[in-house]
Order: sequence, then structure tokens, then C-alpha cells
Amino acid sequence: MKVLIVDDIIENRLALFHFLKKIGSCDLAENGLFALSQFKSSHEKGEPYELILLDLMMPEMDGIQCLEEIRRLEEHWGLSEEKKAKVVIITALDDREQIKRAFDAGCQEYLVKPVLKANLAKLLNKLFPDLVLN
Ligand SMILES: [Mg+2]
Repeated sequence: MKVLIVDDIIENRLALFHFLKKIGSCDLAENGLFALSQFKSSHEKGEPYELILLDLMMPEMDGIQCLEEIRRLEEHWGLSEEKKAKVVIITALDDREQIKRAFDAGCQEYLVKPVLKANLAKLLNKLFPDLVLN
């Protein structure tokens, strides 16, 4: 499985990387703009991301803008629902307004930092029933 981990704080990216490297090939991005360019090139190479973990507060391009652009591109490419990336927001923002914005933009799940590995594993096992992660 191909995974894209997007967060402007390197410690956050690395913590997710160390937890998720056992389930597949993980790429890292430090903001929405960089994530978007990786998202596009992975599609062009025919090796699309199945899972994107996305922070909301980032410089250059925030998580909501990035997610909106990802969903716009997937529509533009004519991808079926199964072929679209599963997007999990991982953020310190836990107000209703942000959560609504994220789901309106097309995320599957929303986790508030600090994220417990057990909670992330449970959620990923739900999104990917074939996955064994604990
Ligand atoms: Mg951030």
C-alpha cells in the first residue's frame, strides 16, 4: 500500500512513518503544495496513494485546500470511488467548524492530536479491512 504522510512538523511525520512503514511504502510531505505535487506524480506513474494522512495547519497550502484539490483532481481523472485515496485528517484543531469543513472537503476520518497508535490502527483497520495493524 502506498501512503502519503503530510505534516509541517518533522517529528509528527517521522512518528507516523515509523508506525506505518510496516504496512507499505510511505512518502512524506511538509505542506499541502508539496503533497499535491507528490499526489499528481504518483498518479502519473500509475502508483497512486491509497492512504493520505493529512495535517490541517501548514504553511504554503493548508490541509483543507490540499484535500479539495486532491478530490478535484480525482474527479478530473474520472476515478471510481474505490480508486480514490482514503484521507485521514490528523490535526490539533478539534472545533466543530473545522471538522465539518474537513468532511465537506472529502476526508474519510478525522483524528485529533495527540494521536494514540491504537486509535489510528483501529481506524485504519476499519478503512482497510485486509490490513493487519496493531
Ligand atoms: Mg501543522
